[in-house]
Amino acid sequence: MPVSDIRCIMGHMEQLRIPKDRTNDYSKEIIARRLSFFKARTGGDFSPLGHHTCDPEEFKGNIESLIGFVQVPVGAIGPLRINGEHASGDFYVPMSTLEGALISSYNRGATVITMSGGAQVVTLQDTIQRAPYFVLKDIKKAKEFIVWFRKNLPVFRNIVKSTTRYGRLKDFKPFLVGKSVYIRLEFTSGDAMGMNMITKASSEICKYITGNFEVERCVIESNMAVDKKPSYINMILGRGKSVSAEVLVPEKIVNRFFMTTAREIADNYRGQMIGNTLSGTMGCTYHFANGIAALYLACGQDLANVSESSVGVINMEAADKDLYVSIYLPSLVLGTVGGGTALPTQKACLDMIGCAGKDKAKKLAEITAATLLSGEISLAAAITAGDFVTAHERYGRNRPRG
Ligand code: NAP
Repeated sequence: MPVSDIRCIMGHMEQLRIPKDRTNDYSKEIIARRLSFFKARTGGDFSPLGHHTCDPEEFKGNIESLIGFVQVPVGAIGPLRINGEHASGDFYVPMSTLEGALISSYNRGATVITMSGGAQVVTLQDTIQRAPYFVLKDIKKAKEFIVWFRKNLPVFRNIVKSTTRYGRLKDFKPFLVGKSVYIRLEFTSGDAMGMNMITKASSEICKYITGNFEVERCVIESNMAVDKKPSYINMILGRGKSVSAEVLVPEKIVNRFFMTTAREIADNYRGQMIGNTLSGTMGCTYHFANGIAALYLACGQDLANVSESSVGVINMEAADKDLYVSIYLPSLVLGTVGGGTALPTQKACLDMIGCAGKDKAKKLAEITAATLLSGEISLAAAITAGDFVTAHERYGRNRPRG
């Protein structure tokens, strides 16, 4: 393309560009100018986006080219009794959603769990990954590189310590494909979800490697981390917090609250898990994503992590006439420091469950697990008792406006 054409296109682009003014401008004036710009361009009325009570300056570092706020309501469920390793007691859990009937359903599950004595929860693992890949001269050099990497693990651990007060390199898992080596670095990240922290640390490790070993190519991420995508590696090896929860619901509570029996629920569960296999769904759950998205949105988490966090496994059994339910969440990616967790409304939600700040990330993971357990039981029972449709009719049908 001739240079003059590029100049012409650039000039045209300049006219179409969203007003930026000074970078990092979060003033009310620039937001209003941007909204007027969209109105002039499209003829729409975007003024609802500009109506807000919060201070836009507080969102520096969380968003660029700010044009206003979308309002999402928050509800709460509880009391939810949890007997965990890091979360213990009765909790009121904030959940943000636009799906009618969701909060009521989770609340019913929470009531049943609490009346049954609470959810038992354990935390099994805490790691967060970045996975650089390297191309060496040939397959022999690639194997030599893995041996060298293992020998230099203490050096890499010190490099990581020099970049963060909280992030630590624990171990790594190597994968070799001919002359290519994939290194899945395993970190802990304190109470932060950790992706910014460990990306910086991994970059320094990569710099050291390129300066000290003959690698022909070094790329900081190979897609093996696997961030923000469902994957078997995270389901099997875990990512973020790996947590499991269980509850035994006595027969009388099953009958009273679910209007069905443990046997019926467990039989339906078996049929549905066959459907799960036939459909090729990763993991086997009813709807982890509903509870995770609602909790993450309320509590300032990165919503894209719903994709790997909602892969997991549930089990439902009739234990005589009682109902035994357990869930396993191998890759809950979350934090109580960093990201959006310090924003005023998000911090208020974290405060409601006693999870704001330091030494609270595992507690948040266990509360998330117990919340999801509530949702799985309630939905399984609703499908079995036939009130799946009626509950949505009652709570979840929004009248069209206008
Ligand atoms: P962050 O806000 O970038 O970093 C956390 C900060 O909190 C660090 O500066 C850390 O100190 C400090 N800190 C204070 N007390 C801490 C404690 N008790 N535990 C841990 N850290 C503590 O957050 P992040 O979790 O690393 O990154 C999350 C953000 O990364 C999210 O907004 C997410 O959307 C985004 N993200 C980034 C990438 C990427 O590739 N960069 C990918 C996906 C998502 P130190 O400085 O000493 O560590």
